[in-house]
Amino acid sequence: MPGTHPRELGLLSDCESCFGLCCVALPFSASADFAVDKDAGRPCTNLRDDFRCSIHSRLRERGFSGCTVFDCFGAGQKVSQVTYAGRSWREEPETARQMYAVFPVMRGLHELLWYLAEILTLPAAVPVHDSARALLEETEKVTRESAGVLEGFDVAAHRERVNEVLLRASELVRHGLDGRQHRGADLIGARLRGARLRGANLRGAYLIGADLRGADLRQADLIGADLRGADLTDADLTGAIFLTQAQVNAAKGAPTTRLPATLTRPPHWTASTQESRAPRRTTKPRHPRPRR
Ligand code: SF4
Repeated sequence: MPGTHPRELGLLSDCESCFGLCCVALPFSASADFAVDKDAGRPCTNLRDDFRCSIHSRLRERGFSGCTVFDCFGAGQKVSQVTYAGRSWREEPETARQMYAVFPVMRGLHELLWYLAEILTLPAAVPVHDSARALLEETEKVTRESAGVLEGFDVAAHRERVNEVLLRASELVRHGLDGRQHRGADLIGARLRGARLRGANLRGAYLIGADLRGADLRQADLIGADLRGADLTDADLTGAIFLTQAQVNAAKGAPTTRLPATLTRPPHWTASTQESRAPRRTTKPRHPRPRR
C-alpha cells in the first residue's frame, strides 16, 4: 500500500488524468450554483472533447460557481486511470453507464480515505491510530477492485464502520475543551460573529450563510458541515478536524482566515467577501469540479 499522505494516496484531484467524470456522471439542477439543469450521464455542454472545461477561467461569472467548489478527492483520476486503465467513455461508450455508477462510489471511498489519513496526523487520536490504519488499508484495497465489484459496493455500510473511528478520534481531539454540541444543527444564517466554538461538535451542521466572522473554530469537528456562503473572515480554524477543501471553497473568507495546514485559501476569497451575506437555502451539493 502507498503511504498515508493524501498525495501518496492519490486523494488530491488531478483533472488532467480524468475523463471529466464529474462533468458527465453527476446531475445538476439550475440554481445559484449552476446556470443550467443537467441529467446524470449527459456531458455538460461546456465539456470539450479533450475533457477540459471551455469556460474554466470564467466559471463564476458564467453562473457555475458550484464547479469551483466540488472536490472528488481524486476519485476521477482513479476511476479513469486505474479502474478503466485509461480507456475513456468516449473511446468505449459501452463502459459509460458503469463508469458513471462507479465514480460516486469511488468518491465516497476516497472521502473516507481522506478522513482516515487525517486521523493518523492527530497526536491526540493515537489510541485509534491502529484502527484507522487498518480501515485505511482495507478501504484503499477496495478502491483497486474491478468496476463490477465497485459498482455493487455498499459505501454506506462501510461508512458506518469508518464513522465509529471518526467519532472516537473526534472525542479524543476535543476532550477537555468543553466544546458546544451542534451536531446536525440548523444554523443557517446564524449570527455567530466572534463565537467561541473551540472544540465544538459541528458534525453535519447547516451553516449556510452563517456569519462566522472572527469565530474561534479551533479543534472543532466540521465533518460534513455545510459551509456554503458562510463568512469565515478573521475566523480561526487552526486544528479544526475533518474539514475538506470543498467545504472551504464553498465558504467566504479572507487573507485573515486561519485554516488547517492541509488546506489552501481559495483564490476567489478576496472577491467573495464583497458579495451579499444574505442566507439562502439552496439545493444540496451535486457539484461538478472545474476542468482545467
Ligand atoms: S467544470 Fe462545470 S461548466 Fe465546466 S465542463 Fe465541468 S460541469 Fe461544465
